Amino acid sequence: VTVMTIDPMPSPNRRASPARPCRLTILGATGSVGTSALDLVKHSPGAFEIVALTAHSQVDQLVAAARTHRAQLAVIGDPAHYRALKAGLAGSGTRAAAGEQALIEAAGEPADCVLAAIIGIAGLAPTLAAVAQGRRVALANKECLVAAGNLFMARVAEAGTELLPVDSEHSAVHQALAGAMPEAIERIVLTASGGPFRTWSLAEMAEATPQSALKHPNWSMGQKICIDSATWMNKGLELIEAFHLFPVTAEQLAVVVHPQSIIHALVEYRDGSVMAQLGAPDMRTPIAYALGWPDRINAPTARLDLIKLGQLTFEAPDEQRFPALALARSAMIRGGAATTVLNGANELAVSAFLNHRIGFLDIARIVEGCLNRAEQIGVVSKPQSLADVLEIDGIARQLARDVIGER
Ligand code: NAD
Ligand code: MG
Repeated sequence: VTVMTIDPMPSPNRRASPARPCRLTILGATGSVGTSALDLVKHSPGAFEIVALTAHSQVDQLVAAARTHRAQLAVIGDPAHYRALKAGLAGSGTRAAAGEQALIEAAGEPADCVLAAIIGIAGLAPTLAAVAQGRRVALANKECLVAAGNLFMARVAEAGTELLPVDSEHSAVHQALAGAMPEAIERIVLTASGGPFRTWSLAEMAEATPQSALKHPNWSMGQKICIDSATWMNKGLELIEAFHLFPVTAEQLAVVVHPQSIIHALVEYRDGSVMAQLGAPDMRTPIAYALGWPDRINAPTARLDLIKLGQLTFEAPDEQRFPALALARSAMIRGGAATTVLNGANELAVSAFLNHRIGFLDIARIVEGCLNRAEQIGVVSKPQSLADVLEIDGIARQLARDVIGER
C-alpha cells in the first residue's frame, strides 16, 4: 500500500492568501493543457502573476503568450529557436532563455504553483526541479508518475510539496476522496470514454490512420494523448498514476467505460457509499481545481445539464480489442523498471505511428515486445535516480526501434 501523500482536507492555514496574486509557472505553456490554463488566468484578472512560460519549439505562440501575460521569463526547449525568441521579446521586459538546462532552471524559479504540462518523459527533469522547490505542483504530466512513480513520490514527500493532480480522472478522485481515511476506501474506479475506436473491430483498427485516431469524441487534447486514448494506453497510464497518487493497492483500481465522459471517476467506500465527480469534459475544470485548491476559481466552461444529457451509459472494458490496458496493469503489478519501459516504448511507438511507420495495432504489440525483451535482458531493477530512469527510458526506446526494425 502506498502512503497517503495527498491530504484532501483543506486546513485554514493552507488557504491561499487572496491579498497577493498566485505566482504561476507553466511548463508546456503552448500545449493543450498549457493554453487552457492561460485561458483560466485570463478569466481571473489579478489572481495570477506569471513567473515563467516554456515551450519546445512553438516560438511565436510562446512570444505571444509571454507578452499577453507579462511573463518574467520565457524558455524555449529547442535552442535553434533562441534568436527568434529573443527578437520576439525585445522591449517586452520578459527574459529569454533556451535549452534543457534552462527549462530546469525555469521550473525552479520561485513560484507558488508550477503547472507541469510538458508531454512525456521530457517533462520529468523540469517537474522534479519544481518538486524540489517545495511549493505546489499541479501535475498534468502523467508520464512522470508512470516512468518514475516511486522516485517522484519520494521527492514530493522529502520536499513537502503539495501535489495536485490535473488529469481529469485523478482530479475527480481527489475531490471524491475529500476527508477520507485510507481504510475507508474500497475501490477507486476511473472512467474511460473508450476513445475514437470504442466500437471498431480489430480488423478495422488494423487499418486505422493517425488522422482517424486523432479524432477524440469528447476531449480536445495534444496528439500523443489522443493516440494513447485510441489504444487505451492512456487509461493504463492513468491506473499507474492513480496507484502512486492514492492510498490503494493495484487490486483496488478499476476502469469502467463511460462514453459520455461526464463522470470522471468514482470512489467506493466500505459502507457501500459511492462518491462520483461530474462535469463537462473540459480540462479547464480540473486545471482550475488544481490551481485554486482548497478554494475554487472561475472556469468559463459549459455547465452540466443533466436533463439535456438524458442518460449516462456504462460498459465493461474490452481488453481483447484494447490490450494496452492489460499491459499497463501488468507492468504496474510487476513494478521495478517495468512501467519505465512501458512508458518509453509507448512514447516511441506512438511517434512511429504518427509518422506512418507502423500500424495502429503495432503500438501495443511493440510495447509488449519491449516489456518481454527488457525482462529477458534483466532491465528490472527499480530506478533509484533521475539518471537511472533516463537510462532505462533510453534502453526501452532502443528496444522499440529494434522491434520496429525487425518488422
Ligand atoms: P501538447 O502536446 O498539447 O503540449 C505539450 C507541451 O509540452 C507544449 O507546450 C510543448 O511545446 C511542450 N513540449 C513538448 N515536447 C517537449 C520537450 N521535448 N521539451 C520541452 N517541452 C516540450 O500536450 P497536452 O495534451 O497539453 O498534454 C500535456 C500533458 O498533460 C501530458 O502529459 C498529457 O498526458 C497530460 N494530460 C493532457 C490532457 C489534455 O486534455 N490534453 C488531459 C490529461 C492529461
Ligand atoms: Mg485523463
